[in-house]
Amino acid sequence: MLEQIKKLEEASKVLEMNSLERENLRSQIVNYSEEFINNIKESKAFVSEEEINFDLDKYPIEETSISPEEAIDILDRNVNHSGGNAASGRHFAYIPGSNLYPALLGDFLAATTNRYAGVYFAAPGAVKLENLLIKWMCKLVGYPSTAIGNLSSGGSIANLIGVVTARDAHKLKAKDFENAVIYHTEQTHHSVAKSLDIAGMEDAQRRSIEVDDQFRMKTEALEQAIKDDLKAGLRPWLIIATAGTTNIGAVDPISKIGDIAQKYNLWFHLDAAYGGFFILCEESKKVFDGFHKADSITMDPHKSLFIPFGSGVALIKDRTVLPPPHSNRASYIQNALSDEDELSPTDISPELSKHFRGLRLWLPLKLFGLKPFRASLSEKILLARYFYDEISKKDFSSLNGKFELGPKPDLSIVVFRFLPNDGDANKFNLKIIDELQKDGRLFLSSTNINGIVYLRLAIISFRTHLEEINLVIELLESKISKLQSQISKV
Ligand SMILES: *Cc1c(COP(=O)(O)O)cnc(C)c1O
Repeated sequence: MLEQIKKLEEASKVLEMNSLERENLRSQIVNYSEEFINNIKESKAFVSEEEINFDLDKYPIEETSISPEEAIDILDRNVNHSGGNAASGRHFAYIPGSNLYPALLGDFLAATTNRYAGVYFAAPGAVKLENLLIKWMCKLVGYPSTAIGNLSSGGSIANLIGVVTARDAHKLKAKDFENAVIYHTEQTHHSVAKSLDIAGMEDAQRRSIEVDDQFRMKTEALEQAIKDDLKAGLRPWLIIATAGTTNIGAVDPISKIGDIAQKYNLWFHLDAAYGGFFILCEESKKVFDGFHKADSITMDPHKSLFIPFGSGVALIKDRTVLPPPHSNRASYIQNALSDEDELSPTDISPELSKHFRGLRLWLPLKLFGLKPFRASLSEKILLARYFYDEISKKDFSSLNGKFELGPKPDLSIVVFRFLPNDGDANKFNLKIIDELQKDGRLFLSSTNINGIVYLRLAIISFRTHLEEINLVIELLESKISKLQSQISKV
């Protein structure tokens, strides 16, 4: 047996690369990533699937190994240039991500030291660092020092944590679900419905509250719906408001909704996945009044803090609404039950073993300080206003039609469409999207509001500046002009 162990040891030792091998792999990957970043200003924001000759299937996982060069080549041809390029400052579709450089290296360092950041006992430093970030965010939103939170993988899981906390705080059991009522709007993110389903609450009643012409929840309609449900013997339970809807960027009247939630004793969850960190800048002050009134808040550092995908956060105002910490702990980690003040991530999250994702956030925040974040977020809001103003005042009559703008942006998303003098506007706007995607320099998406197709410009990358917004205006003009001349020829 000893001989066999020795043999296996020899074969498995390949897994521990020596310093030279590490240097070789590292320099190749770093060189490649340098090239990627150095070319980001010129590289396409969108490459359609048809333009890629995928050959990943030619390289199944097998016994034999390949070289770093081959691995990088496979990734370069198949993965790194297909679809939307969220690293590009010309990506305006959905909610774009971006990726501050220190965050990438934060991931590298977190994986290198591999601290077990799920449980305080196992990695007190890592958990303290994550809790410090959470305390900072709680302070930002105006929560008391007793508030808690969790760095999640994204907004969807943060919304799930919010919904489950709301359920437990109101002591709802299965028998109560069909009488429990949730209030939201048609603009609420679909991850909320998903959270309710995962929480086993698909039978709960959902009221879609009317929105005003800015797509913000009408608070009189909300209050009336709650009163009606109380009269009908139902159990008004949860209000979901949004600070920056994904579709339009609208901010619901947070403060008024908070007052209504308090008056009728409902849980108030604020989904600020996209908009949350705009709280760092002055321009959001007016629409963000009353954040602290929410009982729980979702925010996504991978949106408005420019961190790569995989970073959300759930904040909970009152820690006493949760079951006692560690109550669900498995017996095999009993000895982890040491510190009641320093909450462990696993006490709040469905996760146990988790990526030490605090570091990807801490490193950029500490290395840059907050000032450039505030500046960049203010810049994004002003760029949205600039685009809105340019489109509304410029003369586009030579394009044989005109632009129609959605509501003035609350944050950094603008919805608009082109109304051609002749023909179907919906089809025309979808063609604009097609033309832009074929071109690839810009990536915009469309949305459908009450049957009308709008174009959407979501500005949230730290790499987006005036130059990129001017390019949007320029390319819109040239693509529309091209489409119109094609139409007039037929
Ligand atoms: C993006 C978004 C979500 C979902 O967050 P993920 O990080 O994609 O899981 C939820 N709500 C809103 C308002 C969002 O913009």
